[in-house]
Formats: sequence, C-alpha cells, structure tokens
Amino acid sequence: MPDSLIAKLTEQLDQQLPQTQCGQCGFEGCKPYAAAMARGEAPINRCPPGGTEGVVLLSKVLAVPVIELDASCGKHKPRHIASIAAEHCIGCTLCIKACPVDAIVGGNKRRHAVIAGLCTGCELCIPPCPVDCIEMILLPDFSDWDKAQASAARERLKQRTARLARLLSVSEKKLEEKALSKYAEIEGHGSSPDEANRKRDIIAAALERARARRKTADDSVKPPGAHS
Ligand code: SF4
Ligand code: SF4
Ligand code: SF4
Repeated sequence: MPDSLIAKLTEQLDQQLPQTQCGQCGFEGCKPYAAAMARGEAPINRCPPGGTEGVVLLSKVLAVPVIELDASCGKHKPRHIASIAAEHCIGCTLCIKACPVDAIVGGNKRRHAVIAGLCTGCELCIPPCPVDCIEMILLPDFSDWDKAQASAARERLKQRTARLARLLSVSEKKLEEKALSKYAEIEGHGSSPDEANRKRDIIAAALERARARRKTADDSVKPPGAHS
C-alpha cells in the first residue's frame, strides 16, 4: 500500500483510539499502534482502554472481523484517575515529566495535584514517583472517557510534544554556540599545531552532533506537510 494511504488509514484508526498513551498495546502510544495496524503489522484487539467497543470501531475502519480483546495486554476497566496524597509529595516533578497530557500541576519542591478532568487514567505517573504517593481512584459519578475527551487529549499530547521539541532545539542551539566560541578560542591561541588539530576535531564532531540533534528537534515541530 502506498505511504500516503497508510498515513490516511493511520489517522482514521488513531481517531478511534482512546488517546491515553498508556502503552498497554505494546506500542509507544496510540498513534504508533494505529500505524502498525495500518501497515497490517498489529491486530485490532490490543487496546484495553478501548475495550470491546474499541475493537468494533477498529474493525469497521479496516473492514475485518471483530475479535476478542487480547487478555495479555490487560483488562478493560472503568475509568480511574490518578490522585496525589499531597502530604507525602516531595515536589520532585517526576510525575509531571511522565504525564503525556499535562494533567498534573505543581512546581519544584511544591506539592503536586492532578487535574481530574484531564487525567486519562494511563497510570504512567505512578512508577516514577519516588515516595509512592500517587494512586488510581474510581470516582463514582465520573463520566466514562468519551470521544471528545480523547480528541482533547490528542491535542494536549501534540502541544506537549511540540513544546518539548522546542525546548530541546533551544538547548541544542546554545550548545552549538558554545562549541563555536571554543573553536574561535583555539584559532586565536598559540597551542601546538597537533594539539590545535585534535581540539578542532573534537569540537567539529560535537558541532555536527548538536546540529543533527537540532535538525531533528526542528523537524518535529514543523506542521504536517511543511518542507525544509
Ligand atoms: S490507549 Fe490503547 S492504543 Fe493508546 S496506548 Fe493505550 S493501549 Fe495503546
Ligand atoms: S495524571 Fe497520571 S494517570 Fe493521569 S494522565 Fe497524567 S500520567 Fe496518566
Ligand atoms: S512524583 Fe510523587 S513526589 Fe514527585 S512530584 Fe509527583 S507526586 Fe510528588
């Protein structure tokens, strides 16, 4: 199948996924799983948060029979959300770094809290917490995760990815500037030719790595369809 059709199918499949980015399907998020299904490399029954209803939606997109949810990926559960026991929180910010949809607020050495309405229940914030003060709770009158919430979560993931890539790009640019200034220093100083050549080689290699990383970061923040 041509790449353009696979990309289109990936989008259609991704639209049917819950966007928790939990990784239970064995992929690094909903979009990579959608891409694997579009390429015919993954079955439609690997998403526990989507449940049987989700399998039916995916089967319609791919025009394949409905199959049972793969129990090895996990069980479909009612929507839970993360809750932080603030009195134990040491403000390390590790949970913020782990949350793919920016559903946790808090600053360095300050108590953190979960924004309940944004929490997808992915549980990704739990393992990094060094004091085990995050638990998943079931709120009796909390609505099930719906399509509108999945769309909003997809958007927050996109914004977060773009923000992180911009930060990476800025920090790589600073490293590049530092290497260039070191380069200028060597040119202006009277080290022996061999020593100067050795330092130039080291800096040139560092510059090349920094530029490659910056290009990757810049490319990842370009809107779809943009060309360099
Ligand atoms: S929500 Fe489903 S598709 Fe998305 S990462 Fe989790 S298991 Fe995979
Ligand atoms: S707060 Fe935790 S469980 Fe909720 S979305 Fe963020 S990482 Fe997932
Ligand atoms: S990982 Fe745990 S201790 Fe660290 S900020 Fe989050 S809730 Fe607090």
